[in-house]
Amino acid sequence: MKVEAEGQAQKTIPYGAASRTLQARPVTYICARCGQVETTERYPGPTPRYCGECKTIRDVEDADADRRAARERMRRLRQRRKREDEERDARLPALF
Ligand SMILES: [Zn+2]
Repeated sequence: MKVEAEGQAQKTIPYGAASRTLQARPVTYICARCGQVETTERYPGPTPRYCGECKTIRDVEDADADRRAARERMRRLRQRRKREDEERDARLPALF
């Protein structure tokens, strides 16, 4: 089991006109990627899904996936425009 501390154990965040102090507490979770049990000091918020190592890997994978998805969207868009052009061309003679 690996313990990762996130900076100081306390931080103050602005909250409306006042401010409140958040207390970091250890959160134990199971990495959704490698299944390793991790305990890390967290401020209140969502429980992490991946251990530190897998998060780094996921970040790289996500960036790759984003680029692939963007390429795929462009490809589909070009295909649709091409098809719409062809369909319009095919309809034209019938109008006259
Ligand atoms: Zn992991």
